[in-house]
Order: sequence, then C-alpha cells, then structure tokens
Amino acid sequence: MAWNSFSGDEVAALTQGESFFADPRERRCPACGRLSLRAYVNAPENARRPTLVSYVWCSACRKFVGTRARHPDGLVFSDPLAVLTAGERRELERSLVGFLAHLDELWDAGVLPQSFAA
Ligand SMILES: [Zn+2]
Repeated sequence: MAWNSFSGDEVAALTQGESFFADPRERRCPACGRLSLRAYVNAPENARRPTLVSYVWCSACRKFVGTRARHPDGLVFSDPLAVLTAGERRELERSLVGFLAHLDELWDAGVLPQSFAA
C-alpha cells in the first residue's frame, strides 16, 4: 500500500487526547480507525533552536505527517537511531517513505516506541 499524507482534519484530530510523551503506545488512527497510529520524535543536533521533529504514521493505512516544533523544556527521550553515523542517518532519511517504512519495522521489532521523561 502506498504512503499518503493525513488530511488537515486528520492532523487536527491527532492533536486531541493524551500527549504521545505521556503515553507513547499505539493509538487510534483518525483516518482508518484502527489502533495502529505510531510516532517517532528526533531532536536534530544541527538546529539553530531546540527543535523537535515528529513523525506520526499509521501502520495499517500508511498515512503519515511530519512536523517540527519547539523542543519542550526538559523533555528527554531515548533515540534508537542515535547509533547511526551522520552519513547513515542522511542516507536513511533521503527517502521519507523509506524512512517511515524503517520506523514501522523498528516498531514491529519492539525497538520503538521510545521512552520519554520530563
Ligand atoms: Zn490508519
């Protein structure tokens, strides 16, 4: 199945409910209704300001959205991709669809979700 962006209404629905940081388990997808919504966040080291890049995707219907936001003060989290070199990471992120497929595999393998602490 091909990857597609969430619609504006679906993205708005994603912001409802408990924060992903408080409960990082799979949640219900606003597009297909399955309990298959997953997320991964990353703090890019080269950002000028503390930035949080979030990827949210549905493992069932393969809709996704990526967002950038201010990194909340004091939020720390594990990053299973931190073991990659900068080059490996660039290669992986070169294709967004390939990156999402990789994140989905990491979730299936139990490497994701990340753990968060404030
Ligand atoms: Zn879905």
